[in-house]
Amino acid sequence: MESKVTIIGGGLAGSAAALELVARDIPVVLREMRPNKMTPAHSTGELAEPVCSNSFGSMRNFSANGLLMSEMELLGCELLQIAKSNAVPAGQALAVDRLGFSSAVTKSLEQNPNIELKRGEITKIPRDTIVILASGPLTSDALMADIKSIAGCDGLYFFDATSPTVTLESLDMSRAFWANRRDPDGDDYLNCPLEIDEFNLFHKALADAERVDIKDFEPDKLFESCLPIEIIAMRDSEAMRFGPMKPVGLSHPETGEKYYAIVQLRREDKEGRHLNLVGFQTRLKYPEQKRIFSMIPALKDAKFVRYGHMHKNFFMDAPKLLDEYLRLKSDSNIFTAGQVTGGEGYLEAIAQGTCAGINVARIINEKEPILFPKETILGSFASSLINFEGKSFQPMKVNFGMVPPLEKRIRGRRERREKLAERSLDILSKFIADNNLA
Ligand SMILES: Cc1cc2nc3c(=O)[nH]c(=O)nc-3n(C[C@H](O)[C@H](O)[C@H](O)COP(=O)(O)OP(=O)(O)OC[C@H]3O[C@@H](n4cnc5c(N)ncnc54)[C@H](O)[C@@H]3O)c2cc1C
Repeated sequence: MESKVTIIGGGLAGSAAALELVARDIPVVLREMRPNKMTPAHSTGELAEPVCSNSFGSMRNFSANGLLMSEMELLGCELLQIAKSNAVPAGQALAVDRLGFSSAVTKSLEQNPNIELKRGEITKIPRDTIVILASGPLTSDALMADIKSIAGCDGLYFFDATSPTVTLESLDMSRAFWANRRDPDGDDYLNCPLEIDEFNLFHKALADAERVDIKDFEPDKLFESCLPIEIIAMRDSEAMRFGPMKPVGLSHPETGEKYYAIVQLRREDKEGRHLNLVGFQTRLKYPEQKRIFSMIPALKDAKFVRYGHMHKNFFMDAPKLLDEYLRLKSDSNIFTAGQVTGGEGYLEAIAQGTCAGINVARIINEKEPILFPKETILGSFASSLINFEGKSFQPMKVNFGMVPPLEKRIRGRRERREKLAERSLDILSKFIADNNLA
């Protein structure tokens, strides 16, 4: 068997796995098809490119995402460190300078003598080496066909969309203000208010707008926690005001004025030149995006540097196809990580890549792979994927429902979650020390 580990896909999961392996002196061949062959959502050839939002989610321990971040910090996850060094202000969330982050990851991987980076599409999974399959939701068709033939089952899919980005310089700042609803002194979001009449016109235009026809599109295969804004608009105008256009906690910092609805924009780069419309993922036709989003008063002359678009996202039927270490049941030399496992989200992909790297390193060093404790988000996430018993398996993000309850019941939600976080980090610290992981 080939001594180097092959990682297929230099996205978030693949890059995290590569950094984890070389930190343990294991040589890696990293196969990435971009820029030779692009996916429909990536826009550069850089590794670990976040395809849509530039946020890795909340850093607060009383959110499952924040706890996962703390767990990965305990493990010394290098990719997370790179994200933190490229952070842009985003309140309690960790958001990154998109290009700064992915260029730093690319540089770190390219410069590592233990990593051989090969560009070009992989159409067949090598069978003479240990593989980490991290080709993501936009896995190329040829590779998807090979995965199906090895795993012995069809892949699943759902539809997901990205949101547009505009330049700060093109916005009407007399109709916008910087503030953060969770921090009275914060200025992390650019808030673009709409009065009731403006909102009603905007809502109607959005609900009636022309959408792109997508081959094989099935509305029941939309990802419920990331719905296109026009679908939310079609359901109900209040769904918009209670969702992405929520005005709660936001008043003008100078005048104290409150608003009927607000669109929030988040910085995409350290200089804050580009801003992404938060929660405005869409599959409207591009001219429609320009026409309708320019109805937001601050965006009336906005220059769009990127429009939103929708894609079919591949994932595997984890409960049927994967074992407890997220290896293919049909070939235990093939580990999986990232969205191919049905785990949804940037941070989740980094976490799975890190875990796959740790386990592959252990196998190469002739040790048993490990399962993270069930009280941790790391451990409970993997087991929730493979032990799913519902009717139809759908991609999952991490959540506190995955971990076992506390022995003593605590009433307040935040206090309960803080205790769950404390328990997880205590158990994980001991587990890391016992298994010599950090
Ligand atoms: C359109 C879209 C928007 C999303 N928005 C968000 C969001 O805002 N926030 C969030 O948390 N999650 C989002 N996700 C979900 C998802 O978790 C992220 O896409 C995340 O990047 C997945 O990480 P990954 O490493 O599994 O895949 P990726 O980061 O996509 O990495 C996979 C890599 O494999 C490469 N590849 C594919 N096929 C081959 C091949 N045959 N040979 C060689 N290389 C190949 C690709 O080029 C890519 O670089 C989104 C997904 C999509 C598709």
